[in-house]
Amino acid sequence: MDSYTYIINDLIDHINVLKELGQRTIEIEPQVVRDLTAPIAAAASLKNAGVAQSKAQRAEGRERLSKSLLQSTKPLDAEARAQALEEIAGQVRHCTECALCQSRVKALPGQGNPNSPDVMFIGPAPDAADEQAGETFSGPGGELMTQMITAMGYEREQVFLTNICKCRPENDRAPLLDEMQACTAFLEEQIRIIRPKVIVVMGEQAIKGLFLNQSEAAAPQGRWTQYHGIPVMSTFHPKYILRFQNDAQGQQKRLKISVWSALQAVMRQTGKV
Ligand code: SF4
Repeated sequence: MDSYTYIINDLIDHINVLKELGQRTIEIEPQVVRDLTAPIAAAASLKNAGVAQSKAQRAEGRERLSKSLLQSTKPLDAEARAQALEEIAGQVRHCTECALCQSRVKALPGQGNPNSPDVMFIGPAPDAADEQAGETFSGPGGELMTQMITAMGYEREQVFLTNICKCRPENDRAPLLDEMQACTAFLEEQIRIIRPKVIVVMGEQAIKGLFLNQSEAAAPQGRWTQYHGIPVMSTFHPKYILRFQNDAQGQQKRLKISVWSALQAVMRQTGKV
């Protein structure tokens, strides 16, 4: 929520990428560690008082939501699917389950092919470009996403695109764990209705978010795991790749190779190659 959380989320993302790329050590000044931890320690005691109450309220809200949503396990026909997804979209638009409702301009449930598409792509949360366009995976990251989808042999309309959180976090920071936890009932229900053949989860935070309430474990980038029996491939988010635009050390190229390798595995899984 505060700027330290934002910085630390980015730092975790960055370190994970270095790890994926084979780097095993990094240099860091002791003073940097002291500066990062001091404000967190001071803020923690203030924050804890409010957290217990808000967690209880959110747990109650989630239970209420799950009871109303998770009713049927039967596959739906196209008309019933469209209707069920519209009901979820309506609930998302009016949702106040987490603090993101206070700053959102527009909640974005996701868009695309709802009728058992080969692939459902899941990111962490919408950003400013998405809010402005009224569609998830927009802006420069969305353009790269479209290129990836096209390279796989699909149109954007043939796959489904959504996020763990349906509302944009301020300053386009990564969503927090409790925000993702509050929103996962919507995503669970979308997956149950849409029934994708494969899920591609993009970005470290989205990988964590998808498996928050699950017995299955999240897998690192480029590896398969499962979500309620659906194969899940984890990989990097296109916006993350774009951060290395002018990187002389070739990080962006290495990230693109990793993502393409993951997407080729997905294409083999769906029978596209
Ligand atoms: Fe509700 Fe999800 Fe938006 Fe939070 S992010 S307010 S849980 S729709």
